[in-house]
Amino acid sequence: MNRTFSTDMVILGGGIAGLWLLNRLRQRGFDAVLLEKSTLGGGQTIASQGIIHGGLKYALNGVLSPASSAIAAMPERWRLCLQGQGDVDLRGCRVLSPHYFMWSSGGYRSRLKTFLGSKALRGRIDALSEREYPDFFRNHEISGALYQLSDFVLDTPSLLMLLAQPHRDRILRIDADTVQTHVTEDGKLDCLTLQSHGRTVNLRAQRFVLCAGEGNGPLLQQLGIAQPEMQTRPLHMLVARVAHALPAYVHCIGDSFGMTPRLTVTSHPDPTSDGNSWIWYIGGEIAESGVQRSPEEQQAEGLRQLGAAFPWVDFSSAQWDSFFINRAEPRLPNLQRPDNAYVSAKQNLLITWPTKLTLTPDLSDSVCDELDRQQVQPQAAPAANAEDSTTLSSCFDFPEVAQPRWEHLFTGA
Ligand SMILES: Cc1cc2nc3c(=O)[nH]c(=O)nc-3n(C[C@H](O)[C@H](O)[C@H](O)COP(=O)(O)OP(=O)(O)OC[C@H]3O[C@@H](n4cnc5c(N)ncnc54)[C@H](O)[C@@H]3O)c2cc1C
Repeated sequence: MNRTFSTDMVILGGGIAGLWLLNRLRQRGFDAVLLEKSTLGGGQTIASQGIIHGGLKYALNGVLSPASSAIAAMPERWRLCLQGQGDVDLRGCRVLSPHYFMWSSGGYRSRLKTFLGSKALRGRIDALSEREYPDFFRNHEISGALYQLSDFVLDTPSLLMLLAQPHRDRILRIDADTVQTHVTEDGKLDCLTLQSHGRTVNLRAQRFVLCAGEGNGPLLQQLGIAQPEMQTRPLHMLVARVAHALPAYVHCIGDSFGMTPRLTVTSHPDPTSDGNSWIWYIGGEIAESGVQRSPEEQQAEGLRQLGAAFPWVDFSSAQWDSFFINRAEPRLPNLQRPDNAYVSAKQNLLITWPTKLTLTPDLSDSVCDELDRQQVQPQAAPAANAEDSTTLSSCFDFPEVAQPRWEHLFTGA
């Protein structure tokens, strides 16, 4: 038997963007449902380094553009959420490091870039004296300057869990391959038809919000929407299990003309250890240029660069892994990188990319502003079925929360 449900908002995609938005919309009294095709956060979000950053990466030339200054407010905004005083309640979310550091480990040009960045971000970045070095750097002779940024690092699995848990009955795992979209002649998305446990479910909504990351591309194609277009930027990320008791959280600024840190290092709990080793997760320029390298070449390059940057760490017994992943964003002219969260309205659709984990609160603001502008008000009773008393959530499973790649990597499990 076919069942038909009506709701206020349908969100497609359960990464950070969709989950945050689900929280915000329900706070505003909307009946909202999130559809996830796989695991929650299993796209870019679980692959992210979890850095809530304040824009340094965009200020290494000494200029903080008006667009990139939107990001500068984000660390404080997230901190309020962690204290239970922000737009969503993130109390209990695990903070891996309350600070992030920047190190001009190289020569003249790297020192110049960090100096210019520090000027652009005046007040939000502190040059540290040796006495103030974090434990990882203490008692080691390092050249160049070390700065403490306003940035910090979150554990993404605990973040995803906290955002999903209160809304278990509104988060549905769907079979994306069988979803049918019904579009009216004037381009309005009238209904989604979903298959689950042998049932056919029709889902109608006032608005549909695309938060599917890289999945937005195929969805736009299926809906016949040519603009906006999506662009992807490939990365070849490095993972190393390092037998060193102290975690590293640092951008190493290189000597190249490029404005991306040479190495961006975060450390994550090692599921196989009692605290004497960490999972180092490494992005930055090495991950961008690494798309040209094979996994073996990338891992050898990682060992070479990390060994040179941190001679006091013994990498001889490190276990390595690397993988390719895309960042998904709206396509901008000249293949520029977008600075801000992106929301575009088309008929009853909102098409979104946060472009950075950090900018998720900004994305939800833009969606809420757009709904206000369109004067969309809560209307639906909790996703009611017109024919009988079946609830929407009883027709679908709850998707699992994604786990980081290394959770089972070095355990042999
Ligand atoms: C390697 C890497 C490191 C990063 N590090 C950082 C960082 O440290 N700090 C920072 O601010 N940003 C970082 N980013 C960027 C950040 O991770 C992303 O901008 C953000 O996670 C995007 O979130 P999202 O919810 O839009 O997409 P995703 O997390 O990709 O989620 C999209 C979800 O939609 C689902 N989906 C796809 N298609 C469909 C469909 N048809 N129907 C239903 N569901 C669908 C997917 O399964 C997925 O769960 C990083 C990105 C990468 C790749």
